[in-house]
Amino acid sequence: MNEAMNTAPIIEVCDLVVRYGWATALDQVSLTVGRSEMVALVGPNGAGKSTLVNTLSGIERPAAGSVRVNGRLAHVPEGRQLFGDLTVEDNLKLGAWGAKNRDTSWVYELLPGLDRLRRRRAEGLSGGEQQMVAVGRALMARPEVIVVDELSLGLAPMVVADLARHLARLNEADGTAVLLIEQNARLAFDLCDRAYVLEAGRIVAEGPCAELATSPEVANAYLGGPIEEVS
Ligand code: ATP
Repeated sequence: MNEAMNTAPIIEVCDLVVRYGWATALDQVSLTVGRSEMVALVGPNGAGKSTLVNTLSGIERPAAGSVRVNGRLAHVPEGRQLFGDLTVEDNLKLGAWGAKNRDTSWVYELLPGLDRLRRRRAEGLSGGEQQMVAVGRALMARPEVIVVDELSLGLAPMVVADLARHLARLNEADGTAVLLIEQNARLAFDLCDRAYVLEAGRIVAEGPCAELATSPEVANAYLGGPIEEVS
């Protein structure tokens, strides 16, 4: 790998257009995720978030524009998608399918709490535990960027906060970049450095999360109104 590749953003999406038949799901979307960066993509149902993730993973093809992933990407899919009748340990190993090294011990170190579930079948776990396994399985691919689709879906706030702490630690510990796809803008803005707001297939706002959270348009639409200053 040459020097330019090493310093290039790990994800570069440029003027991306994706269509389903005549319908345009993504219209001229541009977005980057730098190495070691935590970036959020927020937007309502049907905005095109999953379409973007699927294009990054190669499931959908661009009608125009480009998508570049300059490193190993792992995806935590919406709804976890574990093998319910397999144990946690076996689900983790599937994340390194085909790799020589399928050692799981470092994942248990990074995600304390998973170890005691090691022999349990995935189908008997709580939603939060399953989400933790899904993150662990993605880590088994030793990714340089992890794309997490709807981390908070169907989970209690305390469980979400715990998972968010794990992601932040992972990012701090070895610089794994994170692209967090979320409807829960408050969580996304708390956890990430920068964010993009996607509506009806277009990026309508972007910038540091601290700035977006104080923008009246974004705050009204996604945070239940601007935070009032206490005098
Ligand atoms: P959600 O948060 O509800 O999962 P999303 O932001 O992920 O929504 P997408 O699933 O990417 O949005 O959908 C974007 C648009 O593309 C929507 O209008 C959706 O109806 C349409 N769409 C998605 N998949 C297909 C498909 N396979 N065929 C036709 N239209 C599709």
